Amino acid sequence: MAGHKTWAAAAVLTGLIAPLVLPDFYITLLIYTGLASLVVVGLVVLTGVGGMTSFGQATFVGLSAYATAVLSTAFGWSPWAALLVSIALTCSSAWLIGLLTIRLSGHYLVLGTIAWSISLYYVFGNMMILGGYNGLSGLPAVTLFGYPLTGFRNSYYLIWIFVLGAVVCTANLLDSRVGRAIRSLRNPVLAESFGVDIYKLRLAVFVYAALLAALAGWLQAHYFRFVNPTPFGFDASIEYAFMLVVGGATNIVGAIAGAFVLIVGKTSLQILLPKISPDIAHWDKIFFGLMIIGLFHYARGGIVSTHRFGLGAKRSRAVAGSMPAHEKTAASDAQLLRVEGVTKRFGALVAVNNVSFDVAAGKVVGVIGPNGAGKSTLFNLITGTLPIDSGKVWLGDQLLSGMAPHDIVRHRVARTFQHVQLRPGLSVLDNVALGGHWRENTGFLASLVRLDRVQERRIRANALEQIRRVGLEDVADVDAHSLPLGKQRIVEIARALCASPTLLLLDEPAAGLRYQEKVALADLISQLREEGMSVLVVEHDMDFLMNLADHIVVISFGTKLSEGSPLHVQSDPKVIETYLGVE
Ligand code: ADP
Ligand code: MG
Repeated sequence: MAGHKTWAAAAVLTGLIAPLVLPDFYITLLIYTGLASLVVVGLVVLTGVGGMTSFGQATFVGLSAYATAVLSTAFGWSPWAALLVSIALTCSSAWLIGLLTIRLSGHYLVLGTIAWSISLYYVFGNMMILGGYNGLSGLPAVTLFGYPLTGFRNSYYLIWIFVLGAVVCTANLLDSRVGRAIRSLRNPVLAESFGVDIYKLRLAVFVYAALLAALAGWLQAHYFRFVNPTPFGFDASIEYAFMLVVGGATNIVGAIAGAFVLIVGKTSLQILLPKISPDIAHWDKIFFGLMIIGLFHYARGGIVSTHRFGLGAKRSRAVAGSMPAHEKTAASDAQLLRVEGVTKRFGALVAVNNVSFDVAAGKVVGVIGPNGAGKSTLFNLITGTLPIDSGKVWLGDQLLSGMAPHDIVRHRVARTFQHVQLRPGLSVLDNVALGGHWRENTGFLASLVRLDRVQERRIRANALEQIRRVGLEDVADVDAHSLPLGKQRIVEIARALCASPTLLLLDEPAAGLRYQEKVALADLISQLREEGMSVLVVEHDMDFLMNLADHIVVISFGTKLSEGSPLHVQSDPKVIETYLGVE
């Protein structure tokens, strides 16, 4: 691990020297690699980490390239001024495409980017002001302090400075509060539950990837000094996607390696094939396809494995700057949560049927009932994960029902999931830190330039504190998915605590725990109650709740059967009959 900085320094040094010793041809390959890397680094965030697929990145490159071409030739703008317009145009079109497609579920974004890519290709080709399929030529070179950056070496340095900037900013982004949220986007229910506005974030990520594509387009246009539609077609977008996958999809070094391998491979084929035989000269696409299949076969996770190179979530433990504790809840006999006649149907099935109950501040309330009774659905209704059909949920005098989950957590309601929802590949600490997401507000831009460090330290310190509290400090830096299931449940509790809840909802927290662990869990819950927290616990295990809960709600087939003290429900004949069995 100590080698990270050394490797980075060595890479930068090699990059500085390379063009001084390499022949022009190789410098060209490195220039192409740099241009493609910018796009693929954007795809790492968008696709590899954020889980959104786009087949329109080449079109964003093209839009930016054409914008700067028109402005710098027809209007005589300086490339630097045109860069701003290129970025603005590309980002606003990405924003618009995203706005139209991201809220729609599933494949609409992919389809939207494909449609965008195909239609804009014809726009480029058919607009006479853009030079038709011949394109526009005579673009000026980029100048720096009045000195034109022409020639291979100057272009190389200019392009790779941009790549370096993109790499640093993107690495910063992924290692931040926003980055953690992006890493959780593949699990939207989880992300929303901890305060991530997933549509906004997806849109921001989509625009960010387009921004990097815009930089590539601007650099490319002024390097070649002309633009035409060919490099911005659908094929090119597919090639960027290949580079991403070949590089391993989730890490930045892989993005550059993937771009390099594909560019060198493609160029070598174009040179070699005609030498072997003129007949197969135009078979390069076929060989290229075979090469990619071969690569997938031998390096399924991409050529740069995130784990092997430790490029995933490298984290230092935070200690300083603890988060201020939120104020405690007021009077302990006040009703904190009120569930009023809540109903949820799934088609013909009434999963939750007109259920009402209260949770007093500072009390532990158990919800029990046989499998399929509607307990988890009830949790999903309270936390906003599922919309309520009828009825209301109040937290104090705040109406929760109708609110999005990412707003409900801001009212300090946090939950765990019956089916554990941890992000694979992230440490326990990172998984827990997601719980603190809503408590800070550092944004995308601040994260890119590392202006989020104070807040990030606070989040991490708080996460570590919760991890200690549940007794998992020994495994704080371990991949959360490598823990046994019982421990993963405890990680979920720590994450919920990190959100500083006044109402904590635990869905079968004791499932899969051994006896000793159950005792420890019961102790923890009692302690939280002492601190004034209200806890709503769904449990299958009657014994676990009987000594712990102040109040128990029994549901069966979606309907409330009984409620009262543990002793009361235990002796209620209805409960004995349908749930406990005759004793
Ligand atoms: P419990 O947590 O008490 O075991 P659930 O709340 O998970 O029960 O489920 C209650 C009922 O609702 C079950 O019959 C289940 O199959 C059904 N159900 C739960 N979620 C959904 C869903 N998203 N779509 C359709 N049916 C569902
Ligand atoms: Mg359940």
